[in-house]
Order: sequence, then C-alpha cells, then structure tokens
Amino acid sequence: MKYLMNQLHNLANILTGVEELKEEGKYRFICYSISLIHVVITARFLLLNYTILYIYNFFVVLFYFFLGTFLVPRKKFYAVFLCCYVEIQLHSVMASLLAGWDWGFMIYTLALIPVAFYLAYALPEFNRSIRKPFYYTFVILVVFIAARIISNNTTPIYTERVFDQNLTISYTFNALVAFVMLIFFSVLFIIEIRRNELQLERQNRQLEALSSKDPLTGLLNRRSMDKCLTEAVELSRKKGVPFSIIIGDIDDFKKINDTYGHNVGDVVLTTVADTICSHVPEGASVCRWGGEEILILVPENKVDALPIAEEIRSSISQTLTRAEDTTIHITMTFGVAEYSPGLAMTKLIASADDNLYKGKKEGKNRVVA
Ligand code: GH3
Ligand code: MG
Ligand code: MG
Repeated sequence: MKYLMNQLHNLANILTGVEELKEEGKYRFICYSISLIHVVITARFLLLNYTILYIYNFFVVLFYFFLGTFLVPRKKFYAVFLCCYVEIQLHSVMASLLAGWDWGFMIYTLALIPVAFYLAYALPEFNRSIRKPFYYTFVILVVFIAARIISNNTTPIYTERVFDQNLTISYTFNALVAFVMLIFFSVLFIIEIRRNELQLERQNRQLEALSSKDPLTGLLNRRSMDKCLTEAVELSRKKGVPFSIIIGDIDDFKKINDTYGHNVGDVVLTTVADTICSHVPEGASVCRWGGEEILILVPENKVDALPIAEEIRSSISQTLTRAEDTTIHITMTFGVAEYSPGLAMTKLIASADDNLYKGKKEGKNRVVA
C-alpha cells in the first residue's frame, strides 16, 4: 500500500515536472512487467499441460528479462519495441490457434496500437512520423483478421480445459492485462506531452532571460530598459509615482582599453556593473545603455536620486578592479534627471545626458543633476 502511494506520488511529481521520467526506467519496467505476466501464463499452461505453449512461454519470460537487462541499458528502445511488437503478435496468434480463439489472446495485439502511436511521439527513430504507427496498426489488423479466419477453419490442438470450462478466468486475465497496457500507455502519453510542455516553458524562460540581458555584464539590455521606462511612465501617470534616471559613463575608458587591452576593459565593465547592482535601491533597474554607459532607473524624485547616484559614484571610485595581474582604479561620471508628467522619454534622456556631459567637462568623477 505504501509502495503504491509512493508510486502515485512519483507519478504526480512527474506530471507536475518536479521529477523527470527516466527513459531507461520506463522501458525496463515495461519489459519486466511483460516478463512477469508471462510467468503467470507459463504457470497456467503448465497446469493445463499445454506443452508447446508452456515451453514457449518459459523462453518468452527469459526473452523479456533479457530485453530489460541488456537492450534497455544500451538505449536500444526501438529494438525493444520491434521485439515486443513481433513477439506479442506471434505469441497471440500461436496461442489462439493452439488453445483456441476464446482465450482472448488476440486482445493483446489490439493493445499494441496505442503503443505504436505513443512511440511515434516518444522515440526519435519514428521521426514523429504519423504514417509509421498507421503501418504498424495495419499489420496488426491484417494479422488479427488472418488469425480469426484461420482459427475459424481449424480446431485447436489443446482442447482439454481442466480448470475453467468456459474460460472466464483466462479471458478476464488477458483482457485485464490488455486494459492495463492501454491505460499505462495513455498515462505515458500524457506524461510525455507534459514533459515537452515543461521543457518548452523552461526554454522560453531561458530565451526570455537571454534576450532581455546584456551577455557581458548581465545587466538589462536597452530593449528591456525601454519596457521598464514605459512602465515607469504608466505608474507615474496612474499613481503619481515619481522616477528619475541616472546615466553613468566610465571615465577615460578608452585609455584602459588602450593600456591594458580589451579583455581587461571587459572585466572593468563587469566589475562596474556588479558594484552598481549592489548599491541600487529596491525597485531600481540597471541597464547597459551603450558601450560603457549605464542607465539606472530609480523610483525616486531627483532629490532622493542624487544621494543614490553619489553613493554609487563613491563606491566605484573606491573599488579596485583586478584583472590579468593588474589592479585598476576607475571613476565614473553621472548625470541625473527627473521625469515630469508629459515629458517625452527622449527629452528626459537628453537632459540626463546633458548633465553627464557637464560632469565630464567639470573634471569627471562627479554627479550632476
Ligand atoms: P570619457 O571619460 O570622456 O568618457 O572618455 P572615454 O575614453 O571613456 O570615452 P570614449 O567614448 O572615447 O571611449 C569609450 C570606449 O569604450 C571606446 C570603446 O572601445 C570602449 N568600449 C565600448 N564597449 C566596450 C566593451 O564592451 N568592452 C570594452 N573592453 N570596451 C568597450
Ligand atoms: Mg567614458
Ligand atoms: Mg561613452
């Protein structure tokens, strides 16, 4: 009971994407289950003394055990399917002809149909082809009808039915196993679809993160900052929340590149980005606006944005960048501007840029508002 509850819990986890359905585990489970079912069938034929069938079934038990133990770990899942596909049909026809149609052995072959469709979706060898499962299904139907015709015109070899004269138990057992197969593969189908959905969701999130960030510094890129600015304007219009922008530009960055090389320049850029991120208040957005220009959006008016810019400037001037055995001291100049309702974004940015330019002209390493 506890085992069953655990399995149900695992299934729920797989469906919600908490746990991954392991490919090998799935196919091994299928092979061992079929092997086990054949132990029961072997025992049944043994009791009935149906010699050919119990000997054949005994080898089938070993055959599925072999598939699960040797083919599955080698990831030969398509070969496993083909083996099962051929064996189940061969076995069903043989048992139906030798022991009689009314045992219901042919139901197993019908349960193979959803398996073929499921694998067309799950196995790469099918190339997601919709035609292939139809071919497999067509063969199953031909075999089914042929077996029916032959069985109608022949008498079974084994007719002595010692234990259940009307075959209710045997028929029910076969039908139940086929039902379980159908349910099992339907559940697998759902798991597979859910897994693909979750994978797509994950990839979408990754792509979104990648497309919204600058690859070198990990800061927001210009496109994302445009979105943040639009949102800030909306918030200001609807709720009167003020916001300011701070544009910072590394001082004499060209010299750093020229002196130490571009790689060191890159390390300086990432160090600056990290320093800024650790000094901005909650709710602020930081973006790499241009080469060595950083734009910071803070939900504050100019009076409150100024000390924030000043703190960032001061911490950058105190941070030493270490790269390729050199220690570099850098400074940054900042221009601040506050948004006022109705102001065009280009005007706001130009205003912060003007202040930055003033700061550069006045001697750099300063904040101008
Ligand atoms: P100022 O103090 O007036 O800002 O002078 P500056 O040298 O910083 O300004 P300038 O605009 O002349 O130089 C900016 C340099 O930034 C030039 C460009 O090669 C460099 N740069 C831009 N993007 C990158 C980058 O991603 N990595 C590196 N290493 N350098 C970059
Ligand atoms: Mg510069
Ligand atoms: Mg510049």
